[in-house]
Amino acid sequence: MIHIENLHKSFGQLEVLKGIDLKVYKGEVVALIGASGSGKSTLLRCINRLETVTSGNVIVDNIKLDNSVKNISKIRQEVGMVFQQFNLFPHMTVLENVTVGQIQVLNKHKAEAEIESIKLLEKVGLKDKKDVYPKKLSGGQQQRVAIARALAMNPKIMLFDEPTSALDPELVGEVLQVMKQLAFEGMTMVVVTHEMGFAKEVADRVIFMADGVIEEQGDPKEVLTHPKSERLISFLRLVR
Ligand code: ADP
Ligand code: MG
Repeated sequence: MIHIENLHKSFGQLEVLKGIDLKVYKGEVVALIGASGSGKSTLLRCINRLETVTSGNVIVDNIKLDNSVKNISKIRQEVGMVFQQFNLFPHMTVLENVTVGQIQVLNKHKAEAEIESIKLLEKVGLKDKKDVYPKKLSGGQQQRVAIARALAMNPKIMLFDEPTSALDPELVGEVLQVMKQLAFEGMTMVVVTHEMGFAKEVADRVIFMADGVIEEQGDPKEVLTHPKSERLISFLRLVR
């Protein structure tokens, strides 16, 4: 589903991605871990062209990301993204947040879009909150709405960038539970996370990034319990 070849990305003089090669297969769940500043967000953002790339290839579902506006918009529709800050539209209800993209981007009729939205809200456990405004919700509830909103575009791939990092600890579980369910249903997912328990339990593969390169990767239990590289060993000491 995702094929990245020799990806380099610089911001001015600062080289942030230094030659990333990565394939993500259909239905695979990849956990991306690494210290702050190692390039995890930049890598995710290159997958749906929220960042331009300096060199290298990014191919998503056989669509090559070049400067073609048509390809970029196709890929953005296929790739849903959930951020640390939920970024819900504050002036819209929960239902409107999940519905608006279906109407504006997928050209659905309002009634049809709302039926789909309610299904998705049920899936994330928030059907009863459909008429509430985001500020009345807890962080965990807001993030679950953000997930429903991303799913409403019918993505083939979901990217999560530290989806639970802004949450109070007691709210982390409800969001991870929704993500776990998605993974179970076969969604292709790349998840930047510090939740090592989630990585171990749900991910098919863990990728450790350090200083713009993939330093180590493999089976989560193997990589997290028997890390090989010095940098991963010291990183795991810090996050545990
Ligand atoms: P991570 O998500 O692993 O914490 P990021 O991908 O956010 O890392 O950032 C990697 C490096 O790139 C950091 O040094 C960060 O300051 C820098 N960076 C990220 N985005 C920009 C930007 N838009 N302009 C300049 N530097 C950036
Ligand atoms: Mg980041």
